[in-house]
Amino acid sequence: MKRFFIVLLGALLAASLVIGCADFGRGRTGVFTGSAVGHGGTLVVEVEVERGNILRIDVVQHSETPFFYEIPFERVISAAINDGNLNVDNVAGATMTTVAVRAALLQALNAARVNTAAMMQPALAHTPQNIQLSADVVVVGAGGAGLAASVQAAQLGASVIVLEKMSMLGGNTIIIGGIVNVSGTEQQRVRGIADSTDLHFQHTYEGGGRVGNPELIRVLVDNALGMMRWTEELGVVWQDHVDTGLGALWPRSHQTVLPLGTGFLDMFHRFIALPDSGIEVILDTRATDFIVQGGRVTGVRGVNSLGDTITVYAARGVVNAAGGFGANVEMRMRYDELWEGRLTHVVPTTNHPGALGDGIIMAQAIGAGVTGMGYIQLLPIGDPRTGSVSGVAITGVEGYIQVNEQGYRFVNEAAGRDELIHALFQQTNFTNYIIMCSRNHPTGYELSLGAPLNTLVAYGHVHRANTIAELAVMINMSPAVLQATLNQFNEMVDGNAQCPFGRTIFGQRIEVPPFYASRRVPTVHHTMGGIVIDRYARVLDVNGSIIPGFYAAGEVAGGIHGNNRLGGNAITDILVFGRIAGESAATGR
Ligand SMILES: Cc1cc2nc3c(=O)[nH]c(=O)nc-3n(C[C@H](O)[C@H](O)[C@H](O)COP(=O)(O)OP(=O)(O)OC[C@H]3O[C@@H](n4cnc5c(N)ncnc54)[C@H](O)[C@@H]3O)c2cc1C
Repeated sequence: MKRFFIVLLGALLAASLVIGCADFGRGRTGVFTGSAVGHGGTLVVEVEVERGNILRIDVVQHSETPFFYEIPFERVISAAINDGNLNVDNVAGATMTTVAVRAALLQALNAARVNTAAMMQPALAHTPQNIQLSADVVVVGAGGAGLAASVQAAQLGASVIVLEKMSMLGGNTIIIGGIVNVSGTEQQRVRGIADSTDLHFQHTYEGGGRVGNPELIRVLVDNALGMMRWTEELGVVWQDHVDTGLGALWPRSHQTVLPLGTGFLDMFHRFIALPDSGIEVILDTRATDFIVQGGRVTGVRGVNSLGDTITVYAARGVVNAAGGFGANVEMRMRYDELWEGRLTHVVPTTNHPGALGDGIIMAQAIGAGVTGMGYIQLLPIGDPRTGSVSGVAITGVEGYIQVNEQGYRFVNEAAGRDELIHALFQQTNFTNYIIMCSRNHPTGYELSLGAPLNTLVAYGHVHRANTIAELAVMINMSPAVLQATLNQFNEMVDGNAQCPFGRTIFGQRIEVPPFYASRRVPTVHHTMGGIVIDRYARVLDVNGSIIPGFYAAGEVAGGIHGNNRLGGNAITDILVFGRIAGESAATGR
């Protein structure tokens, strides 16, 4: 099961701690199956047992999401076979999958009359150890920025150790909608879309309220196309399609063929799995502080899920890529300058639970400067129950309108996210509906943020109807008002009507049935502020001086996006600056 050559240090240590291979009594002999419902549907486990001893466990049927199911399957199966134990922690971010695979296994083992009660005993107590490791480059955080830094450093010959506090790779990067802004691409050329790095710069700088650092923005836009080529060389396949992501301001949002962030995670996994990649990832290990010797950052201390202290020394450099703080309510309340104290726990977040700002806090503790901490971005398309961006039927901005609960448009849908949210806070219940048609989704099997539309409808996340009148009834709106809103919009698409709210980006008429509506609310999405870096991703201290040996990239760093990040600019940022940080650390720049 060592699929990715990832060092599951915590899991390996745990193996020696839990109850040894159990004597299960007489038990039965044969092949038994069990099933449970996971995140994606029914999951079936097959177990081969001889007189109660487990010989083999296979998941023979499942629809769990790639990159989310591998670790839960591996954890549960290896604990059952190697340790005779099923009392493993749920994998954060993949809880439903962990619970389901364990439940299906229990069902099969009970059918085999294996003593499953013994397998649910807690692990024996563990005496914490001090573990010391070293590498050329140490990276904190295995999201997009940290993994881009790791791969780039490894390509330059450095050995790399990555510490990741969660049980799997990816952070926020694996759950992205998937839009990536790049100018001057073949996709744009084929569609006759005029664009340039200068225009991308202008949109980023002005869209960010003219408070972003122009030097860093220049680095971002000038290296975007090179970043795209680099990912292609590493196996990423990009869609031919290009459109305008929510808040992207221009049709330069590209997507990989694999959905969400899995195209990038697939690329990173495959590189790390190369026998000579030189990259070790240590999961379940939270970095706690940076080690400073003689003014230089020389390593990282952390603690794993067993309580062991892990110290990793870096011969060349330390990269801080621990992400933002969108899930840290205390921090966003303390720093927020834009939303007038609204960002309490009542406002949900799109972020993964590990986005707590650890990297910023740890960097400040050794004197790093921070910038733009008060700039926190909200998104108008949060799931009303969870804040997640999933469960929505949406396209590029060209293909939808937003209406309030009364059925009226209330904003330029192609505006920046700050403008969208300010307008949404003026609407009843802070609620809006994304309305689109089937023009780009003719069969219903097409994906919207990684999920087929048919599934979204089946689970009740999205409403679908053959006429606008029926759709309006489903969402308690006046059919006449919603129809009039759409008629007026289609007139604007044809160029026959004035454009309320100043929308300038249009696609085709929204008129092909069936029609879709998704109810959405504001949700905390991105933290623009963070550690001060220079163009080489070197961390600067509170006086603006370089902290030797210390680099930062990704959402942990500030200054690039000003007070409003463009949709699709974050992935460009984390991959561009991740690579730069990896190069700087590997070369000691
Ligand atoms: C739902 C969603 C959709 C998005 N969609 C898009 C999109 O389509 N396009 C776009 O451009 N942007 C998008 N964004 C924004 C973008 O995803 C993030 O800005 C970006 O992924 C951040 O990358 P990162 O590597 O800096 O951080 P992350 O990907 O969050 O990685 C940071 C990692 O550090 C780990 N970590 C944190 N603290 C510690 C510690 N103390 N020790 C060890 N590890 C630690 C975390 O667990 C995490 O794995 C989206 C964000 C979300 C939440």
